[in-house]
Amino acid sequence: MNNDDPSQNIIPEPSKNDVIMTSTTETNTKMLVSASELKDIVTYLASDELQGRNTGTEGIDKAATYIENKLKSYNVKPYFETYRDNYLAKGKDAFNVIGFVEGNDPELKKEVIILGAHYDHIGFGKKVEGDSIANGANDDATGTAAVLAMAKYFAAKKNNKRSILFTLYSGEEMGLLGSKHLAQRLKDLNVDLYTMINFEMIGVPMVGKEYDAYFTGFDLSNMAPKLNEYVDHSLLGLLPQAKEYQLFYRSDNYPFFKAFNKPCHAISTFDFTNYDYYHHVDDEADKMDYEFMATLVSKMIPAFEAMSNTDTKEIKMNE
Ligand SMILES: [Zn+2]
Repeated sequence: MNNDDPSQNIIPEPSKNDVIMTSTTETNTKMLVSASELKDIVTYLASDELQGRNTGTEGIDKAATYIENKLKSYNVKPYFETYRDNYLAKGKDAFNVIGFVEGNDPELKKEVIILGAHYDHIGFGKKVEGDSIANGANDDATGTAAVLAMAKYFAAKKNNKRSILFTLYSGEEMGLLGSKHLAQRLKDLNVDLYTMINFEMIGVPMVGKEYDAYFTGFDLSNMAPKLNEYVDHSLLGLLPQAKEYQLFYRSDNYPFFKAFNKPCHAISTFDFTNYDYYHHVDDEADKMDYEFMATLVSKMIPAFEAMSNTDTKEIKMNE
């Protein structure tokens, strides 16, 4: 539930004889990741040192090295020979960064879930008060931090029967180039993709909604209702603007959908009214709500755990 929902704050006055119980309006979420680990990652990726992480620059190379080192420290293995999945982005050397946590079931581990986000950004933007570095904190250092935190969690627990790929893309801002490359590479390898979930701009809570985040392409598959059912909570909802702005087609889930025709969607909390700094030089790390992010990721992990462990592939495209 969203803290800004005013209906949650209407608490009847106790009468003198009532036993007063303390409670919170928020359902108690077991915290599986911490706000501080997410903050550390976003703060580094969105620092001026990385110069806006434009694909093909020194800044994004530093970001990739940082992500590789994180995966290594979590004991997440590379999926290919190294963590880097190399390709050319408009003639420039570019790379996705990919980690792998193999499933623990001999049969189900052949089925793969992809969790992803893009770690690139646009480099420089329109100068405001002498600052022209577009730091890309919400877009999409937040999604990158979420994917890394989940990689750490699953590498430690190893409780997933299906395998999970943790994928960080570059080239998104140049036209989904990194995800297009990886989708095709995995298709060529005949990977048995079950589902793909892309995290885009999750650093600022939604306001007045009955769900925590929205789901793009909501009606295309039964994934959102299934994930909600797995955690018995309205975690993911349908935002009408997502359809209006065609968001399903505008981020890294789309190339996977196109290549595999399987449930591939994005999760976001940016609804065009709750954050003023989309592709703006003021999209900075200190504007993110890390407690919110940690709560959101902690609610999502059990949904993905359940998805990775069902006996059959319950999540399907709608007819
Ligand atoms: Zn983005």
